[in-house]
Order: sequence, then structure tokens, then C-alpha cells
Amino acid sequence: SQTNAALIERKNQAVARGVGLAHPHFIESAKNATLIDVEGREFIDFAGGIAVLNTGHLHPSVIAAVTEQLEKLTHTCFMVLGYEPYVEVCEKINALAPGEYEKKSALFTTGAEAVENAIKIARAHTGRTGVIAFGAGYHGRTMATLALTGKVAPYSSGMGLMPGDVYRALFPCEMHGVSVEDALASIHRIFKFDAEPCNIAAIILEPVQGEGGFYVAPKAFMKALRDLCDEHGIVLIADEVQTGAGRTGTFFAMEQMGVSADITTFAKSIAGGFPLSGIVGKASIMDKINPGGLGGTYGGSPIACAAALGVLKAFEEEKLLDRSNQLGQMLTESLNQLSVDFPVIAEVRGLGAMIAMELMKEGKPAPELTAALVAKAREKGLILISCGLYGNVIRILVPLTIPDAQLQEGIQIIKQCFTELL
Ligand code: PMP
Repeated sequence: SQTNAALIERKNQAVARGVGLAHPHFIESAKNATLIDVEGREFIDFAGGIAVLNTGHLHPSVIAAVTEQLEKLTHTCFMVLGYEPYVEVCEKINALAPGEYEKKSALFTTGAEAVENAIKIARAHTGRTGVIAFGAGYHGRTMATLALTGKVAPYSSGMGLMPGDVYRALFPCEMHGVSVEDALASIHRIFKFDAEPCNIAAIILEPVQGEGGFYVAPKAFMKALRDLCDEHGIVLIADEVQTGAGRTGTFFAMEQMGVSADITTFAKSIAGGFPLSGIVGKASIMDKINPGGLGGTYGGSPIACAAALGVLKAFEEEKLLDRSNQLGQMLTESLNQLSVDFPVIAEVRGLGAMIAMELMKEGKPAPELTAALVAKAREKGLILISCGLYGNVIRILVPLTIPDAQLQEGIQIIKQCFTELL
């Protein structure tokens, strides 16, 4: 039978080195929040395939919808021949997305593709090319999205400079000394030193930075960005690829920000493990591109759309938004309690069930301890992932469908790890 070691050896021989592997395990099967590797070892999944499994592995509604679709149709290319699930997903997302305006959507395959298309539409709408993005922001690994992603290593190291006309502002982060005022001043500095507002097509940000460290954008900052965009005719893009699909306790995180974006991106958990992404936005902006200007062979595949409809059904039937808030509270309380015994946990923060703890030693980020915690937790049967500009943040993206007992089991493992490591 297969072993992890043998498969890792084959991976090392066959797969390009740039495709990393956070955990030295190959997974054979999974159900809800439980993973089973090729050697029969069980793990609790607190990573959710990086925010893709808000409804857990193989959610029955998702599998039923996909199975039914598989017996009817797998592909036409929506630009050639239509099928209902694509339109139904767009209708449902238009109804769910925040913003008091008429909405339209378009579907793609990956988060990066959604971001690229949001930028294309903002350019077409404004007739401008500049984009303001933020330090530590993450928007994808394609060329244009790498230009927006505010962290060089490892994402664009060795690849030269990315496509231009992107200006980087500071994301507010009190913990590391950036106030809302500092962040806004950095935008005004761009307007003074680099580019006039009339050359800026879009400002793009994550309402809660994901890869960057789970920093929640303050409402006052969002309001100020909205005002700035209104004043200068700039398109505000909320990248909700990681925050969307219920992770933050509302279907989209922007529902909690007091203002709305003009275009919102979504992907990951929207289709519960199937490749689907999209953008939803103000109809007058979304319609700026002529027929043929948007699309892609697999964008909004019938299978992925069926999966998304299964996800939306699960959210409704199982009240997963309530569950998201409840899990967030349970995690926040437990981790805050841990921080009393283990002051290396400098901060527990997040929105809804998008919860993280940041580890600091003597006032400095503690990436080695973070890595040691991830490794030890895995040895004890818990899959964690880290994030953050300094690699010192443990982020929890557990399925919202996890039973309470299994969540507590995972938290106990974290506690045990701290006891052994410190
Ligand atoms: N935007 C955000 C906020 C993300 O978190 C990610 C993925 N981590 C992306 C875009 C890119 O998505 P994908 O990997 O599906 O291209």
C-alpha cells in the first residue's frame, strides 16, 4: 500500500519545486472536518483547503447537486451555449451581495481570475489604468494579480517586476504601528508623488486580509476609502475570495463594513471544493465590457455551478451564518483563555469564524514558534496553517459544519502543543 514517504519522493521527482507542500502527508479521503491520509492516519482539518471548505469535505448537498448535474451535462462553454445553473448562481449572488444598487455577475474558475476581471472592468469603466493595492494584501499568482499582491517572497521572487501601474498603500494594522490615519496618508502620498486620482481606475482590498495575517479593515477606513472613491470616480473592489461565502459571519464581509464596494470578488468556499469564482457588482459598471470581452472556456462550469447551488442550499438549511458567528465566539473565547497561560499569543482576532492568533516573543514576531506549533499539531492529528507578513499568525479556517466536540478536540491539541513547546 501507499506511504506518505513514497508519494513525497515521487512528488519531488515529478512536480516543480515551486509547488510547495505545507504538510508531508497525502490524503486519501475526507468527510466534513476529518481527513484520512494514505496510511490511514486521521486528522482534524482546521485549514479547510485554505478557506474552500466552509461547508466541509463532501457536504451531502454539494455532492447531491454535483451528482445530479453529472448525469445531465458537464460542459458546453457558457460563451457558446447556455445552461441554467450559471444564471441561477448569478441570480442568487446578485441577491446576496451587499450594495443598494442593481447588480450583475460573471463567473470564472479561480480567485486570481476573478480579480483580473474585476480590474479589467474597472479599467473599461473609468478609462484609466492605475490601481491602488495594499501592503501584505494577497490577490493571486497570475501576473497582474502578483502585481497587486503585496508580498514579494515567495510569490514573485526571481520573476522580475510584475505589470505596472500598481501603487502600494499601507493597510491599517495597529498592532504593527499603522493607524487608519497612516494608511490614508499613504494613499494621499501616492496621489502627490506617483499618480493623480484621475489616473486611478480602482482601489482593491480584502475586508479582512487573509494571507497577510487576518487583519480586519476598520470600518472608519472602509468609509474613508468609499468617500475617496466617490470623490474621484474610482472603482472600489472588495476581494472577498477568502472572506466570502459565510466565513466572517455574514455571507460577504462587506455587509459588516458600513459601506459597500462597487465590485466584489468571490471564489473558494462558494462551491465547496469545486473550482468556481466570480465577480458581482453594480450593473452599470459590470455592463461596460462588450460581449466577448469576458469569459473563459471553463468559467462557471455546470459542475462547479451545481456545487455552488448545493453550498447555498446548505447555508440556508443549516443556518451556517449563525454557526459561523457561534464558532467564532467559541474559538475567540478558547484562544483568549489560552493566551492567559501562554502570553506568546499576543492577539486573538478576526471576524465571524475567520479567527487567528498572532504569536510574538519579546515584542517581536515568532515565526519559528509558529512553524513548530503547526508541525507539532500535525503530529497530534490537527492540520493548521499559518499566514502573515512575518509568518507568525495561526489562522483557523475550520469547516462551519464541524461538530462542537471535534472543534474542542482541536483546541485541546493546540493547548497541548503550547504546553510542550514552551
Ligand atoms: N484573493 C484572495 C483574497 C485570496 O485569499 C486568494 C487565494 N488565497 C486569491 C485571491 C487567489 O485565489 P486563487 O488561488 O483561487 O487564484
